[in-house]
Amino acid sequence: MVYLLLCLWFGVAGAVVARIKGSSMFLWFVISAVLPVFGLLALLLYRSDREELRRQCPGCGKVVKLHDALCTSCGTELEFPDVAIISEAEAAARHG
Ligand SMILES: [Zn+2]
Repeated sequence: MVYLLLCLWFGVAGAVVARIKGSSMFLWFVISAVLPVFGLLALLLYRSDREELRRQCPGCGKVVKLHDALCTSCGTELEFPDVAIISEAEAAARHG
């Protein structure tokens, strides 16, 4: 019984953290409830794609993740850029 309550508590905590990070609350509620400690740890270490910095491919102009070595659209090899485009999450925050 105590274990079930603990799972539920972790599930809610996971859902709250997921909400803050802009991830799926339901998904992380389930993960945190099934794997109480590991689920929450994974979530805390998990970095949302929306928080990744981005940059534009010089070949086709597609916006890709900063850490991508190849353009996912045209396959151009990408150098680490001088300028990065702010992340989707940050852009959304700036627009209110
Ligand atoms: Zn490209």
